[in-house]
Amino acid sequence: MKTFNRVNEKDLAYFSELAPGRVFSGEAISTDYDHDEMTEYGHYMPEAVIQALSTEDVSAVLKYCNERNIAVTPRGSGTGLCGGCVAIHGGVVLSTEKMKRVLEVDRRNMTATVEPGVLLMEFPKALEGTGLFYPPDPGEKTATMGGNAMTNAGGMRAVRYGVTRDYVLGMEVVLADGSVINLGGKNVKNSSGYSLIDLMIGSEGTLGFLTKLTVKLIPEPKVNLSLLMPFDDLDACIGAVPAVLGCGCEPTAVEFMEREVIACAETYLGKQFPDTSADAYLLVRLDGPSAEALKPAMDTLTELALSIGAKDVLLADTDERKESIWNARGAFLEAIKGSTSTMDECDVVVPRDVIPAFVRKSVEIGKRVGVRVCSFGHAGDGNLHIYACRDDMEESAWKAACAQVMDELYAAAREMGGEVSGEHGIGHAKRDFLCESVGEVQMNLMCGIKAAFDPNGILNPGKVV
Ligand SMILES: Cc1cc2nc3c(=O)[nH]c(=O)nc-3n(C[C@H](O)[C@H](O)[C@H](O)COP(=O)(O)OP(=O)(O)OC[C@H]3O[C@@H](n4cnc5c(N)ncnc54)[C@H](O)[C@@H]3O)c2cc1C
Repeated sequence: MKTFNRVNEKDLAYFSELAPGRVFSGEAISTDYDHDEMTEYGHYMPEAVIQALSTEDVSAVLKYCNERNIAVTPRGSGTGLCGGCVAIHGGVVLSTEKMKRVLEVDRRNMTATVEPGVLLMEFPKALEGTGLFYPPDPGEKTATMGGNAMTNAGGMRAVRYGVTRDYVLGMEVVLADGSVINLGGKNVKNSSGYSLIDLMIGSEGTLGFLTKLTVKLIPEPKVNLSLLMPFDDLDACIGAVPAVLGCGCEPTAVEFMEREVIACAETYLGKQFPDTSADAYLLVRLDGPSAEALKPAMDTLTELALSIGAKDVLLADTDERKESIWNARGAFLEAIKGSTSTMDECDVVVPRDVIPAFVRKSVEIGKRVGVRVCSFGHAGDGNLHIYACRDDMEESAWKAACAQVMDELYAAAREMGGEVSGEHGIGHAKRDFLCESVGEVQMNLMCGIKAAFDPNGILNPGKVV
């Protein structure tokens, strides 16, 4: 395994001159920087944290660290779920938290250019009054747009609009040696050689450091409504997904949720979910130009749902009702975390026709191994979030049982034609599962790509490959 130089006093002096007041070391580093949202994957304190302000800062830090053999870990908001932004080899954490400017909203080309540290929840303000809309909608709104691009984040609206990759048109990236390249731009199509921009998207900070991002915008849908469909059990609920997707109604989101997970969210939020009649629910969202235009799709979906086992179809068309349902959905991860002592997460994506079989399998694995397993997820795109919860299990029993649950879940996903991660990425926590899933030939190709971009291996070492 490659080793790196430690950050010394001389290095700190150089960084401090470069970024006065924005360099932290030793006890001055907040413990926030030693983990992401999955503290279960360990705490790793970096030797220095540098808050970049500009492309020039990033370029100078990378050039210096490349020459001095110091590891550099890019970091956005640290909301990742696989340890991607954590400095497992020490060295420098290079943070985008101060690179927060929206540089341009170009109405004629329907694009926006932002610095990487702009938060997902802040970006809509820049679009107010333009009639334009940025569709990617990952659950965690304090994540940065740079982090979203570098993990190819998905989210709730992916069924209709696609994922972050589908909206990235241009990138300014600093390579490990400090050189600055521009990939793509404002063009809506491109067949010019290998698509380096597509390699960069989702590369989790292992190939380059993103310093500017140009995204595609679309006209804002004027109205949306949600339909909540209660089912007697999870099997019937998940089994309805292919019919919902195939009925021609173009849903924006199709999410599934179980009563057990909803109950965790009720406790976590201190708020009652609007329906308590069922064990499992499908939540379907429709977007459109007007309420009248959505009526045919709403009627079709209602009729269809009742014909395939839904006990009822509840319409949420007021802000209050929509919020009570979607806020609960948005809180699931934190709520499950709050319901147990420790947990592990599996973020596989499987072909949509095997979603029911995969969910059934996850329930069976949990029961057999004796671990509480609960799930929710983006049923419409086959991306399931499955959690193994420790509860009050003794530590060594939990470690063995959790490993078995995860091994079996990933093996089942592989057999069903799925992939290791639908949206959260690989980081350091899921590397072994990636190797098992794609095999040696593909891993070698990925290592070759990594070496071409970062020959000294200083950028986010120990992640992905
Ligand atoms: C409650 C909750 C809900 C979530 N819901 C979703 C969801 O619906 N869909 C989804 O996809 N994810 C979801 N996530 C995961 C997480 O929010 C995303 O992975 C997000 O994209 C991470 O952004 P971040 O700014 O926090 O990046 P970080 O966690 O800081 O970093 C993530 C990765 O990107 C790299 N990186 C960050 N910025 C840069 C940069 N400028 N240049 C190069 N590399 C960089 C890091 O090195 C790291 O590998 C959720 C997380 C939580 C806690």
